[in-house]
Amino acid sequence: MLGVPVRFPGEAPNLPPAAQQPDWPDRAALHAATAELASLPGLVAAAESDALRDRLARVARGEAVLLQSGDCAESLDGATPERVGGKFGLLGRMAAVLTEGSGLPVVQLGRIAGQYAKPRSSPLETLDGVTLPVYRGDLVNGCDFTARDRTPDPSRLIRAYGAASATLGMLRELTARHGTELWTSHEALVLEYERGLTRTTPAGTYDLSAHLVWIGERTRALDGAHIDFAAGIRNPVAVKLGPTTTPDEALALVDRLDPERRPGRLTFITRMGAEAVRDVLPDLVAKVTADGAEVVWVCDPMHGNTFTAPSGHKTRHYDTVIDEVRGFFEVHRALGTHPGGIHAELTAEDVTECLGGSCAISPDEVPDRYESTCDPRLNACQALDLAHELAARYVRHLDGA
Ligand code: PEP
Ligand code: MN
Repeated sequence: MLGVPVRFPGEAPNLPPAAQQPDWPDRAALHAATAELASLPGLVAAAESDALRDRLARVARGEAVLLQSGDCAESLDGATPERVGGKFGLLGRMAAVLTEGSGLPVVQLGRIAGQYAKPRSSPLETLDGVTLPVYRGDLVNGCDFTARDRTPDPSRLIRAYGAASATLGMLRELTARHGTELWTSHEALVLEYERGLTRTTPAGTYDLSAHLVWIGERTRALDGAHIDFAAGIRNPVAVKLGPTTTPDEALALVDRLDPERRPGRLTFITRMGAEAVRDVLPDLVAKVTADGAEVVWVCDPMHGNTFTAPSGHKTRHYDTVIDEVRGFFEVHRALGTHPGGIHAELTAEDVTECLGGSCAISPDEVPDRYESTCDPRLNACQALDLAHELAARYVRHLDGA
């Protein structure tokens, strides 16, 4: 059989509950789309996922650094040579800065070729007395505030496959031409898409939609469907850990997702917020380390530091982002563990979504070029600032400072 049977909420007893799933109105169209996904070739090869796990094992052992970044939400029409080339170029420039500073190889992992679905705080949105389903990412519906756009449309699962495939094709050409490695990742959120691209091979069961998938902060319940899904695939997987995570929860996630304790299998992406990172992170790292598990620890300094600008746009300040990065390094240096790297939302486009940085974006400028359909991203200037800041953290360590 190709694929794993698609399970729908309420169709079978004893299935773990799935949070954050779209309410697809056309079930027949959904079944047709998932059946089509199951008939298509995987987007990546299982052996490539294994190779990424090997690279991540080096990060877990402190021999390499992980740079994971890209859009908050990719758009289905973003699979153009200009856009993909821009993302590839920026990641490469950041990696070069980081390698130079850290003296360590950098594992480049894009939030790319599949980052099309978003968890939301509310299923509905009301504007001027009209209530519609919330935008859940291009995988599910459109962003415009019209009933037509906002109705979850299963044909988007197939369009997303096409956009991811086109993006991967361009990335394969670019990496071959430049002699580099780059891996793909996204949040495994919409389970119809992930299960539709999961294949059981002689080597085991893999989600062939990306090399690595992660489970988000809102869907990481231990008894939920997303962790259940991640436990069943052999890809390297990651989990976001927010400030309410307890050390016991972190250890339970290790037991569930990495029972064999294979370095590189599990990455924890911590997104505590600059205010909490120094208080909350030490106990998590200490508990997991005492257990002997070799996980990769990565800092997401974006998602705990979002606030609303005077213009009403969601934004983040570069200085706060850097403060969380510094806290992350302080905690790991104090415990003698490896600060494995960074997970960031950024773009090569010249946007004005985040404040500060050496380009000094001010609150007045935020509306000027705000193109993200979800969270604010660092622009190229701020992204390179971040790479230099990270490089400096690693250099100081090498110097013994
Ligand atoms: C994201 O990475 O875009 C996201 C929604 O993150 P989190 O799950 O950490 O909130
Ligand atoms: Mn985001």
